[in-house]
Amino acid sequence: KTPLLQVNNLSKRFYAGYKGFKREYNQALSPVSFELNTGETLAIVGEAGSGKSTLARILVGAEVRSSGEIYFEGEALEKRNLKQRCKLIRMIFQDPNTSLNPKLTIGDLLDEPLKFNTKLDARQRRAQVVDKLRKVGLLPEHADFYPHMISEGMKQRVAVARALMLDPKIIIADEALTALDLSVRSQILNLLLKLQKEMGLSYIFVSHNLSIIRHFSDKVMVLHHGEMVEKATTEELFNAPKHEYTQRLIQELTLFSQKRHNRTLKKHG
Ligand code: ADP
Repeated sequence: KTPLLQVNNLSKRFYAGYKGFKREYNQALSPVSFELNTGETLAIVGEAGSGKSTLARILVGAEVRSSGEIYFEGEALEKRNLKQRCKLIRMIFQDPNTSLNPKLTIGDLLDEPLKFNTKLDARQRRAQVVDKLRKVGLLPEHADFYPHMISEGMKQRVAVARALMLDPKIIIADEALTALDLSVRSQILNLLLKLQKEMGLSYIFVSHNLSIIRHFSDKVMVLHHGEMVEKATTEELFNAPKHEYTQRLIQELTLFSQKRHNRTLKKHG
């Protein structure tokens, strides 16, 4: 069976200036390969600077890769064709306050991605906007609001709706849950799970936080200094991590949750 997304030896280096007469490069991402099937969730885990965002940005076409191939349903994705890319893979970012233009109404924010689909007239576009607002638990009336008029959780719902506008197959969430308050975080998480079931979406969750991805990703890829150190199902990774670096990450997570547990015990007697 052909995977939905197949990535072969994808890498990225950034030009870092001259050292003497030699051009220097910074290897942000060493060759990585992975695949993603329909309805699956892949987590990409790593510390700051490990290459997670670079990988995500290459997938959505916001960055040009240095090497490697990307296949979508067996067909090669071109290096620069944004229009083709936007219909397949869309991204949700960490902070809706920076990812949503404050000068646009929610309706205009949602309408914007539709410019990649020129076949729709104004009425059809409006219908799309209303449909996506409903899908993320907002009302048609919210189309006339500006981002500053709604709560943080609602803003992140708008970011999700915006990502859904072209009916993509894959959504990449780049730390999209990390910055949210715990209660809002679980709301957005539940929304994403509901949408996955309804629409058969595949997710790529980019996060430095292992505990967030533990309970809902099917498989995990661990990056460290731009190198892939481990790729496993989530269960395998948490039960029997193979790489020393991953073992340390999981140990730290366990220690952390034990500490928290002990604190709770103390507080409540
Ligand atoms: P992460 O998302 O895991 O924090 P990034 O993908 O942002 O990591 O960064 C990986 C490496 O690539 C870092 O060393 C970073 O400094 C470098 N990098 C990222 N973007 C650029 C850029 N536009 N120009 C030069 N170096 C970059």
